[in-house]
Amino acid sequence: MGLEQFKNRNVGTQNYTMVDAGHSPKGVLCQFKQVVKRTFKGELFVGLWVTMKAMLKALFANDMHTVKYPFEKLPISPRYRAIHDMLRLLESGHYRCIGCGLCEKICISNCITMDTRYDENQRKEVSEYTINFGRCIFCGYCAEVCPELAIVHGSRYENASEQRAGFSLFEDMLTPIDKLNLQQEYSGFGSVSPNADDNIKQTPLAY
Ligand code: SF4
Ligand code: SF4
Repeated sequence: MGLEQFKNRNVGTQNYTMVDAGHSPKGVLCQFKQVVKRTFKGELFVGLWVTMKAMLKALFANDMHTVKYPFEKLPISPRYRAIHDMLRLLESGHYRCIGCGLCEKICISNCITMDTRYDENQRKEVSEYTINFGRCIFCGYCAEVCPELAIVHGSRYENASEQRAGFSLFEDMLTPIDKLNLQQEYSGFGSVSPNADDNIKQTPLAY
């Protein structure tokens, strides 16, 4: 291409290929005929057949893709950060929290409030522990920092409530003592990896 041709920006001189767009219907009757022709051309029945096929499969082949929530729920990922659970020690049933306060310190929403006291055996016990779920952003820092795997993110993700305070107390999050045998070891965010034992460095006997 020569330089002059290259510099020619006058698009008006170019040859365009005109596409035949057909003729527009003239008059109301012609327009009505076109609508009827397009509507009942076959695509409508293709769509109906797809729906019918899915319905027959669901009815007779038990091939249903719809989840009947809330009676059926899809499994959630172990890393999903839902409402917190407070776990117990499986051996004694005592809660695992040692009242170290790390979760309260690291919480970026400042929504954990806790207090501790000494019991009659001079052991620290948690006297107060609440999470304000109206402020919590479910970042998972508290679960990650907890040295005892005491606070974890459980599987409750339906956190709508008439009262925020209804599910924020320590006792509400704690595993019920009669369901201790159902308590599962946490496998999600901040948990110990399955091969953690392999990664521990043995202390030399000389020490
Ligand atoms: S998930 Fe994040 S915001 Fe919620 S209590 Fe834990 S640290 Fe605070
Ligand atoms: S970090 Fe864990 S052990 Fe420490 S106060 Fe929070 S829940 Fe209890």
